[in-house]
Amino acid sequence: MQIKITEVGPRDGLQIERSFIPTARKVQLIDALFHTGIRSVEATSFVSPTAVPQMADAADVVQRISRPEGSVVSVLAPNVRGAHDAIRAGADELVAFVSASATHNRKNLNRSIADSLINIEAVADVAFQHRIPVRGAISTVFGCPFEGDVDASSVVGIVHALSRIGIRHVTLADTTGMATPAVVRAVCASVRNAVPEARLSLHFHNTRGLGLVNVAAGLELEIEEYESSVGGVGGCPFAPGATGNVCTEDLVHYLHEEGHDTGIDLDSLVRAAWLLEETLGRPLPGQVMRAGKRLRLYDAEAAPAATAR
Ligand code: ZN
Repeated sequence: MQIKITEVGPRDGLQIERSFIPTARKVQLIDALFHTGIRSVEATSFVSPTAVPQMADAADVVQRISRPEGSVVSVLAPNVRGAHDAIRAGADELVAFVSASATHNRKNLNRSIADSLINIEAVADVAFQHRIPVRGAISTVFGCPFEGDVDASSVVGIVHALSRIGIRHVTLADTTGMATPAVVRAVCASVRNAVPEARLSLHFHNTRGLGLVNVAAGLELEIEEYESSVGGVGGCPFAPGATGNVCTEDLVHYLHEEGHDTGIDLDSLVRAAWLLEETLGRPLPGQVMRAGKRLRLYDAEAAPAATAR
């Protein structure tokens, strides 16, 4: 299959970093990511700088990215003001978000799901006036750290509501890594049956080590779009226990080994992961960036003699 990957590290990954990453380093990372052949990057978030100081330079970041042909710069737009700012800065796609769990939505966005949907409609109105597409992102789809299992009917209701607003492209996000392949199959089947016109992307976190097996479950369902973050960085500032996204280079390595096409050059992606590790100054959770590709071989003469059984 041709698989489309949206890189979310610059947004989902960097938003939890405590010390401010200079704008130039963010832009350098995004440029490096586009250079790998990735065509869609979630670059930043037009949230209030008091809520997420790391994203205070959102407009600057968007304006300074070098954009190869066919590239899409997506940004989070939490409200109408953010939508205007994002469009003015030159964003290609807005992402409007809501949580499938009422408690997480209130914690994260301080309002009810119904009020969030009203807000998303207002954001979409602004975007559509400027002919900018909007993707809906639903968090805690596969489990909520406050409520536990989330009723698939709640997810279906939101996907329906988004479709009525004119938002067909929807990300089902596993904000705190509570998805398992069984949950993925059940929820995705419900959504597909109820809203066949929806175009689905899957967004997993590797909190419990199930990131790639959940992707495998998505592939079985022939879902072709995934979100991941370079180096495996990530988290959510408002969800306890949230850790990194599925790692982009580990995902690409896996997909290529399975015979899927991503259009991404794995070697330059690994270089982007190393660039990010250097920027953050700590080891990242990515595995292929350390181990190399499956067929990385070693010189038998130069390798130390094995004593292990
Ligand atoms: Zn996430």
